[in-house]
Amino acid sequence: MLGTPIKTATKLRTTLKSAPPMQSVRFHGPRDIRVDEVEEPMKPAYVGICGSDLHEFTSAPLSHEFDGIIEEVGEGVTHVSPGQRAVVRPTIYDGNCSACKLGYNHCCENIGFIGLSGFGGGMSRKIVAPAAQFYPIPDNVSLKIAALIEPLEVSWYAVNLSPFKPGDSVLIVGGGPIGIGIVQVLKLQGATRIMVAELMENRKKLCGEYGATNILDPREVDIASRVHQLTDGGGADVIFDAAGVEKALLDAIPACRTQGTIVNIAVWEKNPAIPVNQLMCNELRYMVAALYDEMSFLDVIRAISHGHLTPENMITAKIPLDQVVAGGFKALLEHRHQHCKILVDVQA
Ligand SMILES: [Zn+2]
Repeated sequence: MLGTPIKTATKLRTTLKSAPPMQSVRFHGPRDIRVDEVEEPMKPAYVGICGSDLHEFTSAPLSHEFDGIIEEVGEGVTHVSPGQRAVVRPTIYDGNCSACKLGYNHCCENIGFIGLSGFGGGMSRKIVAPAAQFYPIPDNVSLKIAALIEPLEVSWYAVNLSPFKPGDSVLIVGGGPIGIGIVQVLKLQGATRIMVAELMENRKKLCGEYGATNILDPREVDIASRVHQLTDGGGADVIFDAAGVEKALLDAIPACRTQGTIVNIAVWEKNPAIPVNQLMCNELRYMVAALYDEMSFLDVIRAISHGHLTPENMITAKIPLDQVVAGGFKALLEHRHQHCKILVDVQA
């Protein structure tokens, strides 16, 4: 049932008998996001604002990091039931392309997201989507915490796809929500040294609280020299780039050990000029991780339920739906130094 390709899953939608007008946060144009009344029929509870939502805000219904309460299910749906709390796996795929046939449906040639390319999104009072996209939330995990499952997936999957092994020293470029997630996953998996290159004070503080051993401010230290110093001259075994900023990447490359690996998780606004000869001389590997697979999704739900990941302190504000523009998008864009994750309480 879980992971059923869209073509068959569309038969198994959660549906409502009637569809009264409801409020939904919608994209009208660059920097023009409004709370509209719409005629569309889960009942989202908490939504996290993601960096990609910010890109949309400045450059689509919105928001793909969310959970809620199931109101009604279609015929034959047994893994979730009305009244149950569920988190949404937002990636939608065709099940037919070469990536899907190889089992990598998160790399689908026709990939879409609930909240970015269809089915409404978390910032609607109610949504309807294929049943296979909904995963039950364990009883001991709150709806608020469950809204952080999706961004943590990105961090979890990237670490697991990378060659990281316990005992490694790691540099994370960018201590935002994804970088902080990587700190948590690396700590759980036994990294010896977790170094984070970050400028903003609130993020530095959170990374430290979650287990980063060294916070490096690129305005104060030369990142590569400091990493070599901290690793007895060896360099970082693995570097995760969660920033997507050319200068930050160029600063980080010489921090990597010979035959080490740089893993990109960032979405770049502009392609960087990567010094390939520099990678070649040290036989560095440059790889990328995109999104997450279903196994990671289930693993993160379990890790939170077992208390192995405790993301609550990443939430820096909780706002009602009608304050989403000023208290959400603009707050993240203009007051980044104060925020990590802003949750929107959709039913408030
Ligand atoms: Zn596909």
